[in-house]
This record gives sequence, C-alpha cells and structure tokens, in this order.
Amino acid sequence: MAERIIPLVDQRLAALAASVPATPIAATGLLGDALGRPLRDLRISVTDRCNFRCSYCMPKEVFDKDYKYLPHASLLSFEEIARLATQFVAHGVKKIRLTGGEPLLRKSVEVLIEQLAALRTTDGEPLDITLTTNGSLLARKAKSLKAAGLQRVTVSLDGLDDAVFRRMNDVDFPVAEVLAGIEAARAAGLGPIKVNMVVKRGTNEHEILPMARHFRGTGIVLRFIEYMDVGSSNGWRMDEVLPSADVRKLIAAELPLVPLDATAAGETAERWAYADGGGEVGFISSVTQAFCGDCNRARLSTEGKLYLCLFASNGHDLRALLRGGASDDDIASAIAHIWQHRDDRYSELRSTLPADASNGARRVEMSYIGG
Ligand code: SAM
Ligand code: SF4
Ligand code: SF4
Repeated sequence: MAERIIPLVDQRLAALAASVPATPIAATGLLGDALGRPLRDLRISVTDRCNFRCSYCMPKEVFDKDYKYLPHASLLSFEEIARLATQFVAHGVKKIRLTGGEPLLRKSVEVLIEQLAALRTTDGEPLDITLTTNGSLLARKAKSLKAAGLQRVTVSLDGLDDAVFRRMNDVDFPVAEVLAGIEAARAAGLGPIKVNMVVKRGTNEHEILPMARHFRGTGIVLRFIEYMDVGSSNGWRMDEVLPSADVRKLIAAELPLVPLDATAAGETAERWAYADGGGEVGFISSVTQAFCGDCNRARLSTEGKLYLCLFASNGHDLRALLRGGASDDDIASAIAHIWQHRDDRYSELRSTLPADASNGARRVEMSYIGG
C-alpha cells in the first residue's frame, strides 16, 4: 500500500514515522491489531518529570541534575492531546489513564481532564478517566481533579514504614503525606481508589503484610506489581522480582483469599477477595505471568509518540502529523494503520529471549511513556 511518510527528527530514541495510508481507514470503533486485539485503553503521559526518584523507575544516578527533560515546546499541548484522544476514542478507546512522570506536576492538568471528560465513546457513554499518581500533590489537588471530571485515581505506594518509603522514593518524602492524599481523594469521591505497590525482593517485601492489613476493609483496592524490566536505567535483575504467587501465599497464610473473575477483558490484575469479606486485592504479574493475549493498551508519550507496548523501543510520531497539518481523518487513518500492524507481546516472549536480552535492550523509560 502506498504511504505518505512524514519525516521526523527525534531527540530521544529513534522514532518511527506515523504514515497515513493511501486508502483511508475509517474509525468504526472495531479496530483490531495483527493478533486480533481491540484498542480500548489509552495511557497518556503528560510529563516526563517527577518529584520522586524511585530506584526502579527514575534512579538518581541517571535522572540527576544534568538529565535533560523534554523542552516545553516538545510536549503535546492539551489541545493536541485532546485532538488525538478524540481519534483514539473513535477507534474504540473507552478508558483513558493520565500518567507520567508525575502527572500532577503538569500545570493545570485539570484543563486537560475537562476536555477529555467531554468526549463520548462510540456507544455514547462518558469515558472512564483515571490518573496514576505518586500521591504527593493529591491532598492539594483532589477536589479540583474531581471537579474537572476525573472519576478515580490510582496511587502508587510501596510501603507504610516511613523509613522504607523515604528510601524508596529517594527524595525523603514522608509516607504520611501520601496517606493524606489518599484520604483527600476518598473525601473528594475519586473512587474506587486503587493503590499500587511495586514489590522488590530485598527492599520492601516486609511491607506486604502491613499494606494488606492497612487497606483491607477500606474499600481501597491494593494491587501488588512485580518489579519489571522496563526502561534501561533501573539495573533490573530477575532475582529482585518477587513473584506474585509468593506474595499471594504470604498474604493468604494470614488473611485467606478466594479468587475472583476478571472484570473486563484486558484486565491487568488478577483479582482475589479476602474470604472474610474484607474487600479485594490484585496481582499484576507481568514478569511471571504474561497477559499479552488480550492487551488492548496504547500509550501516548509526552511528546506525542504512540507506543504499542510498554517494552517497545520505538514509538510512532503522531506529533509530526499534528504539527504537519494532517486532518482528523488522516490522523484516524494513521492510528488505524499502526494498530492494525501491532504484533507486540514482549512479556510472552521474555522467557524465550537470551538471558541478557531482557535488560540489555535499549527500551523507552517508564517515566517517559507512563505505566
Ligand atoms: N508517577 C506516577 C506514579 O508513580 O504513580 C505515575 C507514573 S509511574 C511510571 C506509573 C506506575 O509505574 C507506578 O505505579 C509505578 O510504581 C510503576 N512502575 C514504575 N517503574 C516500575 C517497574 N520497574 N516495575 C514495576 N512497576 C513500575
Ligand atoms: Fe516518579 Fe512514578 Fe517513576 Fe516513582 S514511579 S519515579 S513516582 S514516575
Ligand atoms: Fe501489553 Fe506489551 Fe505488556 Fe504484553 S508486554 S501486556 S503487549 S504492554
């Protein structure tokens, strides 16, 4: 098929051109990728900056005072994001997650939320709009986020012990302020709230039970995430991964668990309920149990590149289309063309890769495309 290629210059990683197919592909809401997976979930990174330095994501040694973040002009404006989001929604996206970096550091992010909240899915329903945050600014922002149309939040929290937490965020940030942020989110009605805990063997596994006890019975869903080999800077090692199955056994030994069905196709977490009715917990096991088979997530980077997998090295430059004067139909066709060719399934293939390939490959950083 003949294609119009928009040339581009990328400052970060080699980018792929977003090409507009010669034959337009209309948005029907029924787009499928090369493996038959629909497009349902769009994760938008609104900044590559963060006020934390979690060692598994933005280690201080790499993200130091000399690290060059994207200049403001490189970032997609809110209007550009909303314009792209409109086309993604036309292709079937039902859920949008704002992420980063720390999304609450993006100035006036509420304005973007208002624009996204005005969109409707192909079934005429409001989108499910959520945001993943480290919680540091949530106490201040919960009310305005809710007023702008945000429905719920996911807060990342790796432990309750103040010393452990300060060490893990590596900027000496106190856990009490994140807990206050969660409380403010609850008071503002930003629920159901999820709390994500990345478990790193040898670093915070002793926080698993205190976290489970703390959130059980609160209506807040705690989810344990296996430490992943994302990016190239965190020095990931398999022996620092604590498999979800081990985390689950540890919890179940004290607080019996029963399995729950997945709520929706493409659900990342395996859900379990406390047998005594104390609510549920989730396990996100992207290292030990791949869930690529129904992965329906696309990721839009801070500067407008479309990534088809968390572990991709390259993104497709949609900003070049936007800024090159492409029409909405062109953009919709380009997105469709890219998605139709998607065959990524890194987690499924990880175990078949040579031992050094999983952390030797040059991959995009989590702080750049978001979780
Ligand atoms: N700054 C926000 C936060 O921390 O919630 C949003 C961006 S952060 C990149 C999104 C999620 O990715 C967080 O829940 C974080 O814990 C998770 N994450 C980052 N690096 C990870 C890694 N190496 N393995 C597993 N999860 C990771
Ligand atoms: Fe920042 Fe979130 Fe990465 Fe931690 S996980 S460094 S809070 S972007
Ligand atoms: Fe989706 Fe890639 Fe993760 Fe597989 S590895 S579930 S394709 S993001």
